[in-house]
Amino acid sequence: MTELFTIGCHLSSAKGYAQMAKDAASIGANTFQFFTRNPRGGKAKAIDPDDVEAFRNLAAEFGIERFLAHAPYTMNPAAAKPETREFALQTLADDLARMENTPNQMYNMHPGCHVGQGAEVGIGLVADALNAVLAPEQTTTLLLETMAGKGTELGRTFEELADIIDRVELSDHVGVCLDTCHVWDGGYDVRDGLDGVLEEFDRVLGLDRLRAVHLNDSKNPLGAHKDRHEVIGGGFIGADAFSRIVNHPALRSLPFFLETPHDALPEWGEEIALLKAARA
Ligand code: FE
Ligand code: FE
Ligand code: ZN
Repeated sequence: MTELFTIGCHLSSAKGYAQMAKDAASIGANTFQFFTRNPRGGKAKAIDPDDVEAFRNLAAEFGIERFLAHAPYTMNPAAAKPETREFALQTLADDLARMENTPNQMYNMHPGCHVGQGAEVGIGLVADALNAVLAPEQTTTLLLETMAGKGTELGRTFEELADIIDRVELSDHVGVCLDTCHVWDGGYDVRDGLDGVLEEFDRVLGLDRLRAVHLNDSKNPLGAHKDRHEVIGGGFIGADAFSRIVNHPALRSLPFFLETPHDALPEWGEEIALLKAARA
């Protein structure tokens, strides 16, 4: 099978879209992920139409068809404090408006933390936020990320993600991003039971909801609920499992994004080369 392998890593967005396309191409990637703004929140830089135009040309040249924008991870639409929820809503609405400068792409967010209010309340608050910001004419698909279940994080189970999506009116604009470290830490054995995990995903959420994969090994054993990423093959999941993951029939056509702990672009380039070699 010579199906396209869509793989990239998380890049800095500090120098804009065109630079990200160049950075991706320089390491053999044909996709990339970036934070829409400082990951701890704050104001986003204005989008430069010239940069978007330059990006379009470079993307066509380099064969980059998709990318994944990531919301700041401190954004919490399930917060107990109304002002924290309001901030999340404004960030979400602003990010989704900005995403329409580059139509038909994907925007990933952590569902949120219920901070002691209980999962049921938290799930309702996340769904309320999505119902407030999603619009029928939007071309962006919003992805909810599978979480490790650290603290009061929502989205540790496929059922919690399904509960959120079931309450969203425009749910055809919503998908799921599966993070291999997070699901492993959440207790799903993607090392020795990948088929079973994906069957469960299909039963609970439907595989048509699955739109992207975060490729991360884990520093911790199955079910640890820690969320500490490790380089591919350096952790508890192991290199063999990642061969199976990038080749699995249910996953192989999806875009894969490395969020592994490296310091410099060439290191991700090496990891991408290893995964390309593992791709049958
Ligand atoms: Fe994430
Ligand atoms: Fe992730
Ligand atoms: Zn993580």
